[in-house]
Amino acid sequence: MTTSILTSAPSDTSAFERRESAVRSYSRSWPAVFTSASGSEQVSETGETYLDFFAGAGALNYGHNHPVLQQVAIDYLSSNAVVHSLDMHTPAKREFLEAFERHILAPRGLEHRVLFPGPTGTNAVEAALKTARNATGRRDIVSFTNAFHGMTLGSLAVTGNAAKRAAAGVPLPHSVTAPYDEEGMDAIAWLERVWSDSGSGIDLPAGVIVEPVQGEGGLRAASAEWLRRLAELCQRFDVVLIVDEVQTGCGRTGTFFAFEEAGITPDIICLSKSLSGLGMPMALTLVRPDLDVWEPGEHNGTFRGFAPAFATATAAIETFWSDEQFAASVRAKAELLEEGLKTIAEHAGGSLRGRGLLRGLRFEDATIAGRVAAAAFERGLLVETSGSADEVVKIMPPLNTPDEQLKRGIALLDEAVRAATA
Ligand code: PMP
Repeated sequence: MTTSILTSAPSDTSAFERRESAVRSYSRSWPAVFTSASGSEQVSETGETYLDFFAGAGALNYGHNHPVLQQVAIDYLSSNAVVHSLDMHTPAKREFLEAFERHILAPRGLEHRVLFPGPTGTNAVEAALKTARNATGRRDIVSFTNAFHGMTLGSLAVTGNAAKRAAAGVPLPHSVTAPYDEEGMDAIAWLERVWSDSGSGIDLPAGVIVEPVQGEGGLRAASAEWLRRLAELCQRFDVVLIVDEVQTGCGRTGTFFAFEEAGITPDIICLSKSLSGLGMPMALTLVRPDLDVWEPGEHNGTFRGFAPAFATATAAIETFWSDEQFAASVRAKAELLEEGLKTIAEHAGGSLRGRGLLRGLRFEDATIAGRVAAAAFERGLLVETSGSADEVVKIMPPLNTPDEQLKRGIALLDEAVRAATA
């Protein structure tokens, strides 16, 4: 196979190095300066084209600058319509709520209320945790090993990553960690045991928070059976089940919500990332009506009503979710990706993880994944690493990536894996 290593001179990155905080990270792995983007490709200042199998960590499920969504944003901004509205009424919010109700909530039998938190995933999680605690009067939240729920202190308390937890600088109390769905571990049996026994030393929690697929923690996917057992257990003990769909939502695994495969109804659902469709910040927390015990203003935030995002979110729902076509095409593309990744895993001695178009290639030698991502970048493919030791290459293309680009990406990844394992 021919290699295709990019060779142009580097861009000027001195302003970033001089002034941007040391906390920057993606830009260190990918030191290009990206200027334009369309669909599944980004172009750098020096004219290199990169195939983007990172998709804004799940914020770009419909690709960069989808023309329909882009036009909606342009029209909205040039119409003098209200851009910022806290939680005041706007036609843009009404249209979003109507479309979300018609195409997402009602067909799935979800009676949930829509709570608009601040515009990021961690805002959706914080609102979920507070809702569960205030509605039950209990304090603890159960989360799972290798979970990722965000960087604010409440979300961080239910996140596993040791370095990120340490960076909090304060204790992260009132969280209990149980093993995620993994061979040889039965968290559900353990939870049932400790919740049934007042002498277990573990209080009955307010809620349990779970990702159907662990996006940042290494791409483990919970089985439908495990999720069903978890949902049944929570229901039996009146513990609030929070499903964090921030990364898995908006079609990533082949259905709008990843939990749909298990046929469960979570009490609370967190959604963000691809909600606006164009990469604009937007988040929401879906709350079972009887848990919506808030007093007006008890939880708030300045940026809960970014109307251009409501407008593009409405267009995204109407464009992609008014019938079954898009979801079916995601599932077909997921099969194509799985086939390609299986072949790579077989020859490279890695194992395949994840579900739908949220996949991982895990290597026993944890240094390989980083080398694969670097070799992929050199060849014009953006893929990141995931897992507590960065031992997994994460593959997350936009859901509408044309098959030809999907195949090209798989071929570039194959080359990168061969180079990294040679
Ligand atoms: N939950 C999950 C499952 C996530 O993957 C992320 C982000 N990677 C978050 C919450 C936090 O989202 P944000 O970075 O927008 O705060």
